Amino acid sequence: MLYSKLFGKTKKTVNQQFESKNHELLTKGGFIDQVSSGIYSLLPLGKKVLSHIENVIRQEMEAIGGQEISMPLLQPKINWQKTNRWSTVDILFKTKSQYGQEYVIAPTHEEIVTPLAKKYIESYRDLPLYLYHITPKFRDEPRPKSGILRGKEFGMKDLYSFHADKKDFEIFYQKVIEAYLKIFNRVGLKEIKITEASGGSFSKKLSHEFNVITPAGEVDLFYCSFCSFAQNQEIATLKEGELCPRCRKGRMIKGKAIEVGNIFDLNTRFSDSFDLFCVDNQGEKKPVYMGCYGIGTTRLLGAIVEVYHDDKGIIWPENIAPYQVHLLGLDQQDKIVNQNCQKVYQQLIKKKIAVLFDDRQEISAGQKFSDADLIGIPHRLVVSKRTGEKIEYKRRDQKESKLLTLEEIIKLCHQG
Ligand code: ATP
Ligand code: MG
Repeated sequence: MLYSKLFGKTKKTVNQQFESKNHELLTKGGFIDQVSSGIYSLLPLGKKVLSHIENVIRQEMEAIGGQEISMPLLQPKINWQKTNRWSTVDILFKTKSQYGQEYVIAPTHEEIVTPLAKKYIESYRDLPLYLYHITPKFRDEPRPKSGILRGKEFGMKDLYSFHADKKDFEIFYQKVIEAYLKIFNRVGLKEIKITEASGGSFSKKLSHEFNVITPAGEVDLFYCSFCSFAQNQEIATLKEGELCPRCRKGRMIKGKAIEVGNIFDLNTRFSDSFDLFCVDNQGEKKPVYMGCYGIGTTRLLGAIVEVYHDDKGIIWPENIAPYQVHLLGLDQQDKIVNQNCQKVYQQLIKKKIAVLFDDRQEISAGQKFSDADLIGIPHRLVVSKRTGEKIEYKRRDQKESKLLTLEEIIKLCHQG
């Protein structure tokens, strides 16, 4: 991609109040644009990062048997009345058609997925079943703040599981915990703290929350310095400095966190509302046992920025970066340099390395360097008069640069 053609250039001096670091860096870097409080557009760079995150999630969901579907965002009132949530959930966006029908604008999808599953589940042979989708969600948040960490409209992956009995559910629930840890690891978040809590806006049943430790978070935790164990400070039975009851190696630390995922035991709460039964192997009719499993995809993007940045800009983890390589062309009015730049750009494309080429002629070297730091692509290449036949190579997360050949750089990029 040529940077001169990219929609959404850096905006280093925007006159705007920023709610948080992710809001500031994603806006200045040209990844997002705030429409109003809690509502954002994603620009091409932001959309690319989000797609990379979604693809990691997709792969791990498919690996545990998840099947991707797409469910509507406009949900009939009757479905929400059946679960008794039309008048009890306070964050619902409701809307009315000009013909009189009323709808909920999707904050979650139990009201759609349960009657959908009912159309296909008859006996235990149809189970277990794992359905997921990645779509926008809408919640009338009282004070949306913290940039894309809390939106009125935001992206979520939600998976729903259907089981013949509780035991089968419990086995799958553990598999999801493992899959979630893989996802967070792959998007660059190596250290995730898991709390056991009674859960969220929607259920009073047991749930697990997946948290990223950062001062930008809204959740107050006591977490183990060694393993993934954590407790919410509100309900904590432990104190700061105490030995971790789980691993008995680490000590409990007090800190802020962002909740990036949440999984729930739904039991038969929604099967009961929609009469979702299955016939077991004894011929007996039983309610289907359900679980649900969410990851906030746009919140995850924001959380990654909160964890991976310095005073110059974002430092994207390799797997989800918008591009692998940021090629800066300096002195491009020089014919030879210009030819070298084009050659490097074409070669990288040929080797299937995703490259953003800052080909702008009228922009100073200093500005190109600071734009590259702000945007945060992992590998930076410079071709200039000074670099001659070689290319200057620097990783965004390191200070030192070195002169390498194109072959050496391609090798480094393939290693990640
Ligand atoms: P919170 O406590 O932060 O309001 P929640 O517990 O109500 O969130 P869940 O119903 O558990 O949210 O939703 C699943 C996931 O969706 C959350 O773990 C979070 O990552 C994401 N999420 C929830 N609300 C928002 C929001 N307003 N903006 C962005 N992501 C959100
Ligand atoms: Mg939650």
